[in-house]
Amino acid sequence: MATPPQDRRPIIISGPSGVGKGTLFKRLFEQHPDVFCLSVSHTTRSPRAGERDGVDYHYVSMETFEDLIAKDGFVEHAKFGGNRYGTSKMTIEEQTKKGRVVLLDIEMEGVKQIKQSSISARYIFIAPPSLEALESRLRGRGTEDEASVRKRIDQAYKELDFSKTPGVHDKIIVNDNLHVAYKELEDYIYKPLDS
Ligand code: ADP
Ligand code: 5GP
Repeated sequence: MATPPQDRRPIIISGPSGVGKGTLFKRLFEQHPDVFCLSVSHTTRSPRAGERDGVDYHYVSMETFEDLIAKDGFVEHAKFGGNRYGTSKMTIEEQTKKGRVVLLDIEMEGVKQIKQSSISARYIFIAPPSLEALESRLRGRGTEDEASVRKRIDQAYKELDFSKTPGVHDKIIVNDNLHVAYKELEDYIYKPLDS
């Protein structure tokens, strides 16, 4: 049955690339159909094999992206690994209207911007058990060339540093064993409001 969590605020999930964010929230969607939805971001990066426009991202040119910035169309946006990523105002509005709990998968500069906005949200950080494990997952996924792996590992140091800032995240989950990490995520999201 589709039971929504008591706390229906948007959930901001961040953490280094390759840590398992996508894997975790895919499982959340499967376990709780029709409850959650992913905020589909805009990006200037190319689709990976199997990714679909409008589902995984809205894939746009740099020109279109910059045009949207100029029109104040983003709630937040950032550069990552040489590409631009952003959450459009329209996307958040559309998803909220559907009555679902919106999940955002964004990097740290976006997290900072959402924190400064009027959006009231829950913040979850997914950490790797080690940088070695992170690198091996990123390479094991087989989606990145060497330059992209290096950029993502460099960025991972910054994300991990930022996650240590007190009060930034409501919950930090170490994704070592996937089942354990998923349970921790689900328990946190479904935590009663008065606990
Ligand atoms: P992200 O969305 O954070 O970039 P992904 O969900 O794509 O990361 O996961 C990166 C890779 O790591 C994938 O190949 C995934 O199957 C694998 N992975 C995810 N969680 C774990 C885990 N707990 N243990 C081992 N491998 C994992
Ligand atoms: P990827 O290229 O692996 O899909 O995403 C790279 C990074 O960009 C990840 O850390 C992901 O969380 C982040 N990201 C994806 N969409 C957005 C967005 O709309 N805004 C921001 N700030 N980061 C995003």
